[in-house]
Amino acid sequence: MFSSEIRALAKQIQKIKEQQRQMGLFCEDRELLSCHSCNLEEDVTFESFLIVADRSNPSIDTGLRFSAVDEGKGLYRCPKCGDEVRVPESEV
Ligand SMILES: [Zn+2]
Repeated sequence: MFSSEIRALAKQIQKIKEQQRQMGLFCEDRELLSCHSCNLEEDVTFESFLIVADRSNPSIDTGLRFSAVDEGKGLYRCPKCGDEVRVPESEV
């Protein structure tokens, strides 16, 4: 009945998410990634900016970002060692 309004709303949300992503904010509906091979991991600062830090140097942004291999399957690639990283299952 209201499908056109819902679609318009969904488009709006998509746009906002895109803007947030461009600002460097973390707004994904997934758990944070961490690479077990080289100890690189994602972190979110208290201002909700997404950073990627080395576990030995937490909260220091390396400037690297995990890239999506297959977002549907939750597969990403580590920017440092090239290993495939799986999104951890969220505990619901
Ligand atoms: Zn790695």
